[in-house]
Amino acid sequence: EDDEALLDDLGEGVDDSAPDGPLPVLAIIGRPNVGKSTLVNRILGRREAVVQDVPGVTRDRVSYPAEWAGRRFMLVDTGGWEHDAAGIHARVAEQAEIAIHMADAIMFVVDATVGPTATDEQVVKLLRRSGKPVVLVANKVDSPRQEADAATLWSLGLGEPWPVSALHGRGSGDVLDAALAVLPEVSAAGTVIPEGGPRRVALLGRPNVGKSSLLNAIAGTQRVVVDEVAGTTRDPVDELVVLGGRPWWLVDTAGIRRRVHQTSGADFYASLRTQAALEKAEVAVVLVDASVTMTEQDTRVIQQVIDSGRALVIAYNKWDLVDEERRDQLDREIERDLVQIQWAPRINVSARTRWHVDRLVRALDTSLASWDTRISTGKLNSFLGELTAANPHPVRGGKQPRILFATQADNRPPRFVLFATGFIEAGYRRFIERRLREEFGFVGTPIEISVRVRE
Ligand code: GDP
Ligand code: GDP
Repeated sequence: EDDEALLDDLGEGVDDSAPDGPLPVLAIIGRPNVGKSTLVNRILGRREAVVQDVPGVTRDRVSYPAEWAGRRFMLVDTGGWEHDAAGIHARVAEQAEIAIHMADAIMFVVDATVGPTATDEQVVKLLRRSGKPVVLVANKVDSPRQEADAATLWSLGLGEPWPVSALHGRGSGDVLDAALAVLPEVSAAGTVIPEGGPRRVALLGRPNVGKSSLLNAIAGTQRVVVDEVAGTTRDPVDELVVLGGRPWWLVDTAGIRRRVHQTSGADFYASLRTQAALEKAEVAVVLVDASVTMTEQDTRVIQQVIDSGRALVIAYNKWDLVDEERRDQLDREIERDLVQIQWAPRINVSARTRWHVDRLVRALDTSLASWDTRISTGKLNSFLGELTAANPHPVRGGKQPRILFATQADNRPPRFVLFATGFIEAGYRRFIERRLREEFGFVGTPIEISVRVRE
């Protein structure tokens, strides 16, 4: 439901007046309890809270499609993760860092009834360094009498504080106008993947599957001097490594190295990090611990990769612990949980012993090649012409929708548009996807098929 709405919203070409490219990203950051979630709900036009701030509650949505004054954008909500009193400074800063990274513009929320705190000052430093546009929200200004409170926030040096009551809606339209004024039409953050240069890989997986072990196995061997690689602009959280004799970017590795997410709320937090990494990556290696039963968290990460339209490699780690019996179990788990994702290359590795780690390269190359693939319109239509002639769409209500023409609108990942005379059922779309994969491969890449109905 929610996810479908999201996909619809992101579906390219649905709204012909919309600019091409990913929707711009607006992130809402700030200390706990300043009213971020309340503001998110206000913007999304919902009455109820997104999710209560209950410790241990899993929040796996990070961003939501939103609309204001006829413009569409993605709203990143960082309000839901659990925090402990001790680590509060570090975690707010860390959360802010990720959100800033993902965003094209930021709404920084401060509680005007409290005034600027040391943590707020810390976040301001990060904001300054990022150079991204910031709108300062002075929240909990519920009445005109309290506007003097907002004025104290000038001291943060972020320009005019916008007095807002997220709770009652007061001033929220004005601050949104201000945010949209500095938000670009199309996302330039993360989501825009630089062309050329080393390819960009995200190492993903739930905690303890062996990400940092694999990172060390890869990065430990050969160090690369960044300046040696032409045309690279280094993001401090990315690492350049050599695999198969070529340089690759491992994106967003800082979080893997720091091993931050150990407390409750970690699910949401991990998912936020996964999304941030995916936005920068072209291909993701999802690590699964082969020695234990696959979990929903594993499949969720895989689904996140697919939803983000990135190429995918699944690596079964800790293979040194896998015996005959476990192997049979694993086969059944794969059949059960990954039946829809048979197109993803799977490799078995051991980060600990480095067994088969070199096989990663071939899998990455395969998935990326598929991700880059363009099929000519001629080839595509002669294939689909034969396929649909031999296997026509079922007749529905006395009508038989036909596919008139198809084109590959885009690659990275491959996106196809079918022009049809009527509604094409999901089952028939899946059939076409399956056959497209049989014919053209697409090993390791999600593909998207959309249908336009022509009268
Ligand atoms: P978050 O942790 O930053 O996401 O903060 P919440 O949105 O959960 O809000 C924390 C508390 O502040 C809740 O009790 C809200 O009802 C309250 N709150 C949020 N916005 C306002 C506001 O504009 N005015 C007042 N008076 N309270 C607010
Ligand atoms: P991360 O949380 O995904 O970064 O996981 P780590 O790399 O910290 O690994 C979690 C635990 O699994 C550590 O105790 C590692 O030593 C262990 N581990 C990682 N890779 C392997 C492997 O290939 N084989 C075995 N036996 N243990 C591994």
